[in-house]
Amino acid sequence: MDARRIVAAKRDGRPLGQEELASFVDSYVRGKVSEAQAAALLMAIYLNGMSMEETIDLTEALVGSGGRLDLSSISRPTVDKHSTGGVSDGVTLVFAPLAASLGLGVAKLSGGRLAHTGGTLDKLQSIPGLRTDLAPAAIVRQVEEIGCAVAAHGPDLVPADRKLYALRDVTATVTSIPLIASSIMSKKLAVGSDLILLDIKAGSGALMEGAGDADRIARACTAIADHEGRRLRAAVTDMSQPLGEAVGDALEVREAIEVLAGQRKGRLRELVLAFVVEALTRLTGVTAADARGRAERALEDGSALERFARMVEAQEGDPAVAEDPARVLPAAEFVTPLRARATGWLASVDAKAIGAAVAHLRSVGSEVRGGPDPAVGLILRAKTGDRVSMGDAIGEVHTRDPGTAEIVVAEVAGALRFSEERVDPPVLVKAWSGDAPPAG
Ligand code: URA
Repeated sequence: MDARRIVAAKRDGRPLGQEELASFVDSYVRGKVSEAQAAALLMAIYLNGMSMEETIDLTEALVGSGGRLDLSSISRPTVDKHSTGGVSDGVTLVFAPLAASLGLGVAKLSGGRLAHTGGTLDKLQSIPGLRTDLAPAAIVRQVEEIGCAVAAHGPDLVPADRKLYALRDVTATVTSIPLIASSIMSKKLAVGSDLILLDIKAGSGALMEGAGDADRIARACTAIADHEGRRLRAAVTDMSQPLGEAVGDALEVREAIEVLAGQRKGRLRELVLAFVVEALTRLTGVTAADARGRAERALEDGSALERFARMVEAQEGDPAVAEDPARVLPAAEFVTPLRARATGWLASVDAKAIGAAVAHLRSVGSEVRGGPDPAVGLILRAKTGDRVSMGDAIGEVHTRDPGTAEIVVAEVAGALRFSEERVDPPVLVKAWSGDAPPAG
């Protein structure tokens, strides 16, 4: 394998073959291709793109770099769910236990947080004691018994993606459609779920904000799944504003618990329901109306919340968090109101700016604390299309000191635009694609 020749071919716009991609990825993981050569190939891919065939070959090369998580012994129909990353995106925290309470199995492996977006593992780890470093056998056992496990990607699964992702991060090559699609799909293909659900975010808080980017990612992922004979449904969903109201690890867990307890309506609940309906109809053959009715009942009658408590307990966290999150979760000392600085309709929210403000807040003092701060963050109750009056309390900022609160309050104010004209709320689920409709 001649790494220089492969880099030169992509640099000059020549397509790479299956053998070339497989041997390059394999040699990179084994340390036989240098970081400089891998970085050069990533930039060449970023600039020149990849055909669908190359994207599929790259995905297979990534999957081939490690082992697989075999779920075939699980008696429940299994579903995996993956988001391209957003702000206040607590869907997995609610989806996994809710789907489990309805008889499905969810083995969810998550990576770390990306840029301004939150990471599911960081959120869960704000629950005292909770572990996410589960061995494959423990994941399978937990999904069989409880119905859900949310764990970190172990080092054996798609190690090439972990290495390449870190390199993409420092070489400004994250936002390439073939690289995103192959990265996501390699991790989904390595886990043997019956159905893959993708939540592809579109809007100011999404990984790629350009018009049409989310659709292109959806199309690439769908083509990879089709080629591999795997069932996949991809939704393009709104990330033009934070999905829920809470931004920050412990605050988002609290919001997810309120949804699981049937106490909270709104966009987070609606998106979770859309995914659960999709999973139930595809995997069990019930109608959409029946699926929605069952899911709503599980949120109202405590069964989804009970499943969450069992998952937390199985992962050595304090299950009392489900009943009394305020007592169990870490909290910041200073809660400062956020007030509307204009009268009118909220026209837009810069979700990326809000996510970045909270990402900065959680890293402040991380050296003193020995890691990012799960207690800090903010609540933004106002949503695009809401009518507000100057001075209305539209949220709050949770910080360790009043000085930082002032900075975050100003950052949030800068992220909101008001209009004197009525503004329609954005559509939450813009499009579904993939997998043929369920029979009947
Ligand atoms: N999520 C992933 O897993 N990989 C990407 O490249 C982007 C989002």
